[in-house]
Amino acid sequence: MEFETVIGLEIHAQLLTSTKIFCTCSSSFGAEQNTHACPVCLGMPGVLPVLNKKVVEYAIKMGLATNCKIASRSIFARKNYFYPDLPKGYQISQFEEPICEYGHVDIIVEGEPRRIRLTRIHMEEDAGKSIHAEEFVASDETLVDVNRCGTPLIEIVTEPDIRSPREAFVFLNELRQILRYLNICDGNMEEGSLRCDANISIRPKGDTKLGTKAELKNMNSFRGVEKAIEYEVLRQTDIITSGGKVQQQTLLWDDKRMEVQPIRSKEMAHDYRYFPDPDLVPVDVAPEWIEAIRADMPELPAARRERFRTQFKLPEYDAAVLTETKDVADYFEAVAAHIDDAKLVSNWIMGEVLRTLNEQKLDIADFPINPQRLAGLVDLIQKSVISGKIAKSVFTEMLTSTDSAQQIVDAKGLTQVSDSSELDQVINDIITANPDAVERFKAGETKLTGFFVGQIMKATQGKANPKVVNQLLMEKLNKK
Ligand code: ADP
Ligand code: MG
Ligand code: ZN
Repeated sequence: MEFETVIGLEIHAQLLTSTKIFCTCSSSFGAEQNTHACPVCLGMPGVLPVLNKKVVEYAIKMGLATNCKIASRSIFARKNYFYPDLPKGYQISQFEEPICEYGHVDIIVEGEPRRIRLTRIHMEEDAGKSIHAEEFVASDETLVDVNRCGTPLIEIVTEPDIRSPREAFVFLNELRQILRYLNICDGNMEEGSLRCDANISIRPKGDTKLGTKAELKNMNSFRGVEKAIEYEVLRQTDIITSGGKVQQQTLLWDDKRMEVQPIRSKEMAHDYRYFPDPDLVPVDVAPEWIEAIRADMPELPAARRERFRTQFKLPEYDAAVLTETKDVADYFEAVAAHIDDAKLVSNWIMGEVLRTLNEQKLDIADFPINPQRLAGLVDLIQKSVISGKIAKSVFTEMLTSTDSAQQIVDAKGLTQVSDSSELDQVINDIITANPDAVERFKAGETKLTGFFVGQIMKATQGKANPKVVNQLLMEKLNKK
């Protein structure tokens, strides 16, 4: 029997606000344990939470970016459960009336367009962090850090529309790109500012009824999500083909052992006794505010990719690489504004620039060569003042100097030699010095051209214009 995989994702994104969702404590990452806390985020009796407006703005931004309907009124609810890292005994979330619903994200998976519908996006606070002490000291104690209590999150829930582990990967990547373009979440899965739970079931191909799902948690990378889903699909397929039934349960992915472990069923009993939080008024959003937020939205990744293909006539691959982050896309556009060969600019950014950023672990914002200087370099190549090979050495020089490409070329005398009268002499000398090679070339060993060009380049320290060299060389050799 053939099976179809059905996946729905629940993604938590930590919002880049400077303060928490209901108090003025800092929500920055990495502070000393238990220093970012106050009676409000610890839920002491008698305190009143006050909603951070930025959180609502960011949730609306994400809703607009993913084609959601924005609710004019939404409600905060208490989700009650006991856990040591939740001193309040409840988490403030949204339940029946979330801020965003009915969205979708369009992606392309292995050449096929796919639409993944979003059920909802809601706002909520994060819980604290349990730290298992055996990781640091020989002890079986668990420590609690409450700094994260009250950190703002949005939870994005998809319909069960995803059909393969790869599709989940592509969707997550697109979602993260949107979050980053909007500058509302840093999207770092390793640090936990983006978390993804995957709900997975399988069903006989052609069936419309959903199978029993298992929920996978604890993946801490995109590859981890893909791997975990692959594993789970195989596990469920094995169970069903050997006559068993999949149990509805929560499983923890172990990235080192590449397998899942069930968590105790008690911990997953879903009885949160939600009720509207009596301390918080409903969130009323004026249509004018939504429009103001919409007007302030940046161009989104999909639109920018498409524009890079049409406006700059770039291949799909280049468009995808260059728009991966907003900053690189901005950098490309700033260079391309000065050069009319967009593909040449793209090659330089995808090649030398991104390679250098990667090697030096730099963000493009800290890249020593600004767009104007790179444009100066690409311009010299385009005008054949220097060869691509010389340009690479100029580029390296520019990384540690503030000079323009032209200044470096002038100072080092790197200008390409295209003048045939200058090259004539060099080429004649090389031909005279290698009579054997000339004989073999005449006898049909045409690959010796490479040898001659190499010698000429060596004699000119790489400055000879390869096009002119090739032409002159051929003329001379064929006359021999
Ligand atoms: P729960 O109440 O267990 O949290 P929800 O109905 O809220 O379940 O759905 C949570 C997520 O699981 C959503 O992303 C949804 O699309 C997905 N989902 C629901 N049922 C299935 C299923 N049978 N197979 C795969 N995913 C599912
Ligand atoms: Mg759920
Ligand atoms: Zn606080």
